[in-house]
Order: sequence, then structure tokens, then C-alpha cells
Amino acid sequence: MQKDQLLTRRRALIAGAAVLGAVGAAGTARVLTADPAGSPVRAPVAGGPQARQALKPSAYRLEPMTGFAPPRRTPGKPAVRREPIMRVSGRGRTMVLTFDDGPDPRYTPSILRTLRKHDVRAMFFVCGEMAVDNKDLLAEMADDGHVVGNHTWTHPLLTELRRSEIRSEIARTSDVIEDAYGERPVWFRAPYGAWNRATFQIGADLGMEPMAWTVDSLDWTTPGTATIVDRVEEGAAPGVVVLSHDAGGDRSQTVRALRDYLPELLDSGYHLTVPHRQDS
Ligand SMILES: [Zn+2]
Repeated sequence: MQKDQLLTRRRALIAGAAVLGAVGAAGTARVLTADPAGSPVRAPVAGGPQARQALKPSAYRLEPMTGFAPPRRTPGKPAVRREPIMRVSGRGRTMVLTFDDGPDPRYTPSILRTLRKHDVRAMFFVCGEMAVDNKDLLAEMADDGHVVGNHTWTHPLLTELRRSEIRSEIARTSDVIEDAYGERPVWFRAPYGAWNRATFQIGADLGMEPMAWTVDSLDWTTPGTATIVDRVEEGAAPGVVVLSHDAGGDRSQTVRALRDYLPELLDSGYHLTVPHRQDS
């Protein structure tokens, strides 16, 4: 896809994403948690089938332990949502950093180095066509404890595709992630934040929860490193999910901004972490 075409489509979708954001912020069932200690914690939930599901005892507690192997948790198919998850719930000042569209060997390694320097885990919503040529970077993400999510194969506007095409875009990407990262993804993010019923259904059928974001750094508009830093720091709040990009254009501002805002967020007492899905 041409870069300017990408930008135009993204601009056209900002309004739609903002509406989705408002709906999400109004408060719905949230079954995920983000616990800095790394163990799943029951999140407060309200209403809906997901809430009832989340209140059931965790399946892994009921599984018999065999030998000395750790208990195995096989994520089931999540319920089909009507809107994506926009925030995380967790103890204290928890935030999640997400990087989309990569991996890109020009920028992703720098981002990984900065995260490693500060011992911080993040989420990478990768595109299959990028991942297939950069499997080493997905392996590095796995080694460092980052979470890799599915961002489709070619970054299309899914709302313009047939169901079979949507499924192909998503399933192929899960396959390459499993190959390179070692696990199938349990999180999915629609390109441009353009969700519809088919994407929610297919994502859930492939074992993934839909995740959007709370704060858009708008780094893809290359507004300058300082502006990206300002947007992230001004948007910082407990439960916030930040959207940035490690591919899709010149992302050197994104790389530099992370080096600035990450230590400052940590100094302000934020836990930058990754979510744990609550499997029923
Ligand atoms: Zn994207």
C-alpha cells in the first residue's frame, strides 16, 4: 500500500476511532488485567456475558498437575464482543505501550533496546507480511517477554473485505506469529481501528480478544519527537493503552520519543506492563 494512501485512510478513520473510544470509555465488561507482578488478578467487571464468564473459577486451578510440568493453560475462544477493549484494569498506575505495523528492522531493534534498558514489557501488533521477513525480531520479542498481537497480514481496511478475506488476513498472520514467536496470539487489533461484526466474530473464533487503544500518539503524522512525548505524557493515566508505530514509514521520531517518555513515566510511578487475558 502506498504511504500517502495509508495516511489518507488513517485520517478518514480518526473520527470513527474517536467515537469507538467514547463508547469504550463509558464502561463495559473488562476481563483483562495488567498486573505488574505478572500473575493474573481478578478484575472488577460489570454486566454482560463476559462478566459472568470472568467470575467463574479459573480453569487452570481445576486442572490436575501432572508430573513436574507446569500447569498448562490453553486459551479458549473468547466471547464475541461488540466493541474492542480500550483500557486495562490493574493495580496502581498501570499503563500499556503498544507498537503497530512492524516489525521493521530499521526501528524495532531500537525500540526493543530501549524497553530492555528499562526492563519494560510492551505489546507489538505485527503484520504478517512484515513478520515473515523478520522472524528474528519476533523471537527477540519472545525472549524479552513482550506480547505479540495480530494486526492482519497486509494491513487492509477489513470493513471492505469479504469474510473469507478477513479470515485469511488474520489466520495467516497468527500462523507466522506462532512459527516465529512460539505461541499463537491471543490479542488482535484491526488496522485503522476499523472494526465490524465480522472482525469481532472471526477474531474470537481464532482465539483472540480485540484490543484498541486509549491514547493515540499520532506518531505516524511525524509531528516531531517532542510532540509525541507530550501526547504520551499528557495522556498518561491508570489503565491507558498507548498507540505508537514501529513501521509503516519513518519512525525515527517514535524511537526517540520512547527514549524520552519511558524513563519519565517510570519516574512518575507508572508500571508499564502487558495485559494477561482472563481465560474462563
Ligand atoms: Zn496499523
